[in-house]
Amino acid sequence: MASLFKSANRKVIGAAMGALGTVMAGTFAYKATRGSKGSNGPSENTNVASSVKPTSTYATFAPEIDSFPDLTLHNNCMANYLTPKLYAKLCDKVTPNGYTLDQAIQTGVDNPGHPFIKTVGIVAGDEESYDVFAELMDPIIEERHNGFGSYDTHVTDLDASKIVGGKLDEKYVLSSRVRTGRSIKGHSLPPHCTRAERRSVEHLVSSALNDLEGDLSGIYYPLANMTDEEQQQLIDDHFLFDKPVSPLLTCAGMARDWPDARGIFHNKDKNFLVWINEEDHTRVISMEKGGDMRAVFERFSRGLNEVEKSIKEGGNEYMWNKRLGYILTCPSNLGTGLRAGVHVKLPLLSKDKRFDNILESYRLQKRGTGGVDTQATGGTFDISNSDRLGFSEVQLVQQVIDGVSKLVEMEKALEKQRKIDHLLPKSMK
Ligand code: ADP
Ligand code: MG
Repeated sequence: MASLFKSANRKVIGAAMGALGTVMAGTFAYKATRGSKGSNGPSENTNVASSVKPTSTYATFAPEIDSFPDLTLHNNCMANYLTPKLYAKLCDKVTPNGYTLDQAIQTGVDNPGHPFIKTVGIVAGDEESYDVFAELMDPIIEERHNGFGSYDTHVTDLDASKIVGGKLDEKYVLSSRVRTGRSIKGHSLPPHCTRAERRSVEHLVSSALNDLEGDLSGIYYPLANMTDEEQQQLIDDHFLFDKPVSPLLTCAGMARDWPDARGIFHNKDKNFLVWINEEDHTRVISMEKGGDMRAVFERFSRGLNEVEKSIKEGGNEYMWNKRLGYILTCPSNLGTGLRAGVHVKLPLLSKDKRFDNILESYRLQKRGTGGVDTQATGGTFDISNSDRLGFSEVQLVQQVIDGVSKLVEMEKALEKQRKIDHLLPKSMK
């Protein structure tokens, strides 16, 4: 099936660029730095070997010097490590699939910072991006993943029976959710995929989801077949990803062709869901109202295993390697890709000036309840694990359960106008 969707031209040109660094077209040598003018992986138009004969010469530059981006105002991980020297070394490199450094960093160049989180400022266009641009990717991975080094390896453990406790106080915890992403091998990732690749991912994943049985069985709804009102309702109910308005997505080339080949699968109870072709090929989600994180993780693990089985039966496999675990679009999601989170009411604790340090000590991250680009309102937050790599799924979910239990304990103490000093994480005492 996949071969039907492959772009033969692009493969050949990509390979030629990778080997030589230049591609000859007519009498001109085109440097393999397509992205240096700011283009964002519009992968359909990479066929430079056309029959058009240029009539004048274009100005020539030394991209390794002249194209170095202005990062003076930037506060993202990419900007911390991209030096002119490293840029010069990597700017001519191209993955076998034709993805360049300039394409990878464009989102970080265009988005100097983010009001609520520190972004990584770089995305992968394909599985090989992590190898070809390793000299930039690795320090970013190390910073974002709490010191994860180039010789560390990743561990997977989805055994929900190992979770201790897991029922969080529902007076404070409004909903619980666990999600991850998975990428289909042999297809470029959303920043770089062709329409054909995107449609192929949609086809093979939605076919695999058809095989789910029992409480997991459900229906796939392509966005293109939904009305605006239906989409908005699913977004408002927190089931569906937002429209691609975030500059983090648009500048990474992930909004191209919207809504072509995007959609959502969900079961009858809408507590097991799969997004197709948003930021990753797939996002697998388990969620429900209330604080039973244990039940949410149990369904997540079961569903994830069933989906993988079915994907494999269809002759496909996920991108994975021993060091980085599951390969996803954003380096922040490598490894488990797991974000276990709750919507939790902490109106008093969140006003304490130590709140951010407390979260940091528990390796937790805060967001608004409308997603990563929203600010928390009324003291209700989305609190989730900040790590994804170097810890197993079980460890990360346990971290969230333990950390959120502590936060709730502190909130209760503050309600009674008591001090919370004795409840603070060890590192802060
Ligand atoms: P992700 O990391 O999964 O992409 P986002 O921050 O982009 O998460 O949010 C995606 C959607 O998931 C949003 O509508 C958000 O409100 C919803 N969501 C995230 N966590 C929870 C939760 N614990 N309970 C309910 N909805 C959630
Ligand atoms: Mg998101």
